[in-house]
Amino acid sequence: MGSIKLEAVEKWYGNAQVIKGVDLEIRDGEFIVFVGPSGCGKSTLLRMIGGLEDISRGVLRIDGRDATAEPPSKRGLAMVFQSYALYPHMSVRDNVGFSLKTSGVPKEEIARKVDAAAEVLKLGPYMDRRPKDLSGGQRQRVAIGRCIVRDPTAFLFDEPLSNLDAALRVEMRYEIAKLHQSLKSTMIYVTHDQVEAMTLADRIVVLEFGKIAQVGTPRELYERPANLFVAQFIGSPKMNILPCSTSGASYTLDGGRGGSFGGSAPAVHLGIRPEHIALVEAGQGQCDGTVDVVEYLGADSYLVIDCGSLGKLTQRSSGDVDLGPGNRVGLAFDESRLSFFGEDGLRV
Ligand code: ADP
Repeated sequence: MGSIKLEAVEKWYGNAQVIKGVDLEIRDGEFIVFVGPSGCGKSTLLRMIGGLEDISRGVLRIDGRDATAEPPSKRGLAMVFQSYALYPHMSVRDNVGFSLKTSGVPKEEIARKVDAAAEVLKLGPYMDRRPKDLSGGQRQRVAIGRCIVRDPTAFLFDEPLSNLDAALRVEMRYEIAKLHQSLKSTMIYVTHDQVEAMTLADRIVVLEFGKIAQVGTPRELYERPANLFVAQFIGSPKMNILPCSTSGASYTLDGGRGGSFGGSAPAVHLGIRPEHIALVEAGQGQCDGTVDVVEYLGADSYLVIDCGSLGKLTQRSSGDVDLGPGNRVGLAFDESRLSFFGEDGLRV
């Protein structure tokens, strides 16, 4: 089992409150990602679950039992950090089996567990090497192997890929996803990289200043962000946010045209993703603008379009779009994909 529950959890450093009352229920086998900007409290929250930081207030439950004051060794959780902290003088095999050896596990059982972990992580060819003779990705796999042999209740990952180069990050991301598929263990993963969050998570927890801004599947967060913060944090390029006003069943863009509005309360911000804007003749669609920059990415091009008082909007076109700086265009929004937000920044 590996269910974890946080009840009104807070963290104070002296007078500074860095975790401000977090309630969260993590189901057995779920892959949960904590994401948010630097300093929002992701690592602190993870370390509180792991027992490396005290919980100032609130309750932590692991499989139903109150684990708030348990020492890390009693929690049955395994942590993987950004720095691998391998023993340099030991082989991969000894590194992976070390914690079992110090716990007095019989030799044959250690060998069996280490071989099983090596198989899952494809470490077989490197078992007799020392860490200095491995690549960064291989070292991180050894660090994960060290956790797997302990058969933990849950794995806690603290930015495990941030020391790797871009290509290796993509490869390790895939391997961690496969690892979760094969082990089916609960995993909690901290990252500031929203692509990692979107691709790995069953559910994402977006943190902002020590509070949960939203919890949901990647798709829920992308399609129905609960507030402006999540709308602009999840998705790359960001969701476009435009000033607007609403009246009854219609909305009007400030200095632009409008359309139909289905919200239940007045809205002052309209959100639209770059892929939900089509280019039309100037004078048609919701507003007009002038192409400022074309960012060519191969399959796609992102057009930055200056829409005057509405600001600069990003629009996704196909890679072979035949437009350049200075061209005047109309922008037509897919009205079924609009998000609206009120004065308080909350979705309406
Ligand atoms: P993140 O992982 O999201 O980047 P952290 O969890 O590391 O953020 O930090 C959250 C906040 O707590 C930050 O503002 C940080 O400065 C503060 N903080 C972390 N550790 C301490 C500490 N030992 N004393 C005081 N403040 C701390």
